[in-house]
Amino acid sequence: AKEQGRGIFRYYDVRLTERARERLFLESELRDALAREELIVHYQPQLALADDRLIGAEALLRWRHREHGLIPPDKFISIAEDSGLIVAIGEWVLRSACRQAKQWLDAGHDFQRMAVNLSGVQIERSDILATVTQVLADTGLPPKHLELEITETYIMQQAQLNVRIMGDLRALGVTLAIDDFGTGQSSLGYLKRLPVDKLKIDRSFVMDIPQDSNDMAITRAIIALGHNLHLTVLAEGIETAEQAAFLKELGCDEAQGYYYGRPVDAESYLKLLKESARP
Ligand code: C2E
Ligand code: CA
Ligand code: CA
Ligand code: CA
Repeated sequence: AKEQGRGIFRYYDVRLTERARERLFLESELRDALAREELIVHYQPQLALADDRLIGAEALLRWRHREHGLIPPDKFISIAEDSGLIVAIGEWVLRSACRQAKQWLDAGHDFQRMAVNLSGVQIERSDILATVTQVLADTGLPPKHLELEITETYIMQQAQLNVRIMGDLRALGVTLAIDDFGTGQSSLGYLKRLPVDKLKIDRSFVMDIPQDSNDMAITRAIIALGHNLHLTVLAEGIETAEQAAFLKELGCDEAQGYYYGRPVDAESYLKLLKESARP
């Protein structure tokens, strides 16, 4: 039995070492990814549900490794967070997205809003207020065209502190969205006091509409809650016409998902902007 026990221990040990090695490898590669210009920002359309009008985009990070090809964010964002690299990378995404939005505005396009994801680590380990202020000044993007997305889970971890930081950010004139809403067990007491403009209903509630009646009830409740708090509500992960119709009927304000468009590079997003301008 002793022998067997050791064997099992060694088996897990090897697997852990492999995972740890992969993470170490990705971490060291990620350190150089910015300088090697392997990081790219893609843009996913966001629409007004009432009339399917294009209103903006969410900036989503992509990593094209020179040997290993496209590495999905789910594989490297947590590594970037654990290592602190997300501070530099997140600032780069913010700057790139704001510069891009300013370019589209200057070209005369009707572009309302660029949404950028903020990691909790950026809020904890850097002066995010100073960074956002500086990036807005450097790029010349009017603050009202920038929206920052922060996950519900992160906000609720340190709700009191985040209420203050979010208030400071919002005072700059940017808007704030709670990302992945419905998964983070918000206290309703805090939700009322949070300085935010928008709830983004998590994709997990949208994806089984109309098969899952519980998810439909939750979605309906989130929309009602958001509207009672005078917030805009956006549904994420809409993949079918049926889902879009259901959400529209419930009065959900905005939509994002493969049904409307996948995240695309800046050039392709510009085509969408031009098409949406046609009468
Ligand atoms: P998220 O912020 O919830 O972003 C939405 C994710 O859902 C994106 O995945 C998007 O491609 C995907 N998505 C959108 N519509 C659909 C749909 O209809 N069906 C399905 N199946 N998926 C859909 P992506 O780009 O792989 O990003 C994954 C996560 O990585 C993001 O989730 C976000 O948490 C993180 N992430 C991405 N870029 C950044 C960034 O610049 N900074 C930070 N801190 N996190 C980022
Ligand atoms: Ca997001
Ligand atoms: Ca989300
Ligand atoms: Ca479900």
